[in-house]
Amino acid sequence: MNVYDGERMAEMLAAQGLSEAGEGAEPDLVILNTCHIREKAVDKVYSDIGRLKREDGSRPMIAVAGCVAQAEGAEIMRRARTVDIVVGPQAYHRLPDLVAKAAAGQAALDTDMPADSKFDALPRRSKNPRVSAFLTVQEGCDKFCTYCVVPYTRGAEVSRPWAAVMDEARALVDAGAREITLLGQNVNAWTGEDEAGRTQGLDGLIRALDRLPGLARIRYTTSHPNDMADGLIAAHGDVASLMPFLHLPVQSGSDRILKAMNRSHDSASYLRLIDRVRAVRPDIALSGDFIVGFPGETEADFEATMHIVREARYAHAFSFKYSPRPGTPAADMDGMIPLEVMDARLKALQDEIIQGQVAFNRASVGKVTQVLLERAGRHPGQLIGKSPWLQSVVVEEPGATIGDLVTVELVSAGPNSLGGRIVARAAA
Ligand code: SAH
Ligand code: SF4
Repeated sequence: MNVYDGERMAEMLAAQGLSEAGEGAEPDLVILNTCHIREKAVDKVYSDIGRLKREDGSRPMIAVAGCVAQAEGAEIMRRARTVDIVVGPQAYHRLPDLVAKAAAGQAALDTDMPADSKFDALPRRSKNPRVSAFLTVQEGCDKFCTYCVVPYTRGAEVSRPWAAVMDEARALVDAGAREITLLGQNVNAWTGEDEAGRTQGLDGLIRALDRLPGLARIRYTTSHPNDMADGLIAAHGDVASLMPFLHLPVQSGSDRILKAMNRSHDSASYLRLIDRVRAVRPDIALSGDFIVGFPGETEADFEATMHIVREARYAHAFSFKYSPRPGTPAADMDGMIPLEVMDARLKALQDEIIQGQVAFNRASVGKVTQVLLERAGRHPGQLIGKSPWLQSVVVEEPGATIGDLVTVELVSAGPNSLGGRIVARAAA
């Protein structure tokens, strides 16, 4: 979502006459767009600010944006006098005003969460989007997992209106996007009314996007197990452009820890949910998020996490050491796990996850499938695209270009990418 926000900020400033400083050029304004989900982000902001000093001792105008700005903006301005602008994730549509204020030497801090949507104030998508574009449809979270800052930094759950999403999707496709990934902190909590005034969930939106001419692929991330509605599961079975990939974080395999996390699902209900999705889409690639070392996590709790990883058969997963976040309930819990224990558990978990990833990739070899070519590879003549299962596929084919949807035979597999041979250039 920060990538999406960054693009929107750039578009907004471009409408004011600013342009992106090219590689090696000296920018007049630098925006550090930050994430607050785990610690170290703040430290990184301070060190980045230090590095922005120019050789002659002068410096560009510096803005700190994103969730670190939201959570610690006032403190940052006090501590780093070189920061000119602080802007939270729900207020960045006001950047032009803030830049003008800062240029006039005034304090420019905006961490409001205005009731009116920032999206209404942003210009229409203008830049050439990537072949695979992001589109935020939902923001914020009401779930209050005990370890997480998102409900505090991004605010309450809000869904963008149907028409706004459809307009933005059309603009992206008109500008060349072939794939759209719908984004939200809990994207499957999206709800809205369609043109006819009927209440719709994310599946309704996906079905409408499926009918958009020129849009070949739809994905969504990140979703919460409790918002996996029947209609969305069904969509995985019968919407052709909805890709067979599901990022569905579980966090832990221990019911005791899931309860302490306030996750409101247990390991059995999670596994049942996956079974239901696999029943309609047997080849779906499953992905997840895990936290190791949550306060009070015993060896048996951790074993339960290892167990669920084996049971669920992930194609891919992210895993993190628990990071206490100021202001969250878990930060005050007893039973902090020593760092060495967290490190060992993270390593064991990641080894297990990688094994699953390698197995999933190996099992793909021999398949003939479609790959959307997204960027140039490292070597001349190479192009890199994505399989339906979100695997990176490297192909070498002089005639192919970025944006092509090509039919590829997957011929080799590594842990992080596959090699492919183009067998046909598909029509749009
Ligand atoms: N809404 C999504 C996740 C959004 S945050 C969900 O609930 O599934 C992305 C991931 O960051 C989380 O899934 C979690 O694994 C990780 N995370 C969040 N807070 C964390 C913390 N305090 N320490 C470590 N990892 C954390
Ligand atoms: Fe954070 Fe996700 Fe839990 Fe919301 S549901 S509090 S975003 S981990």
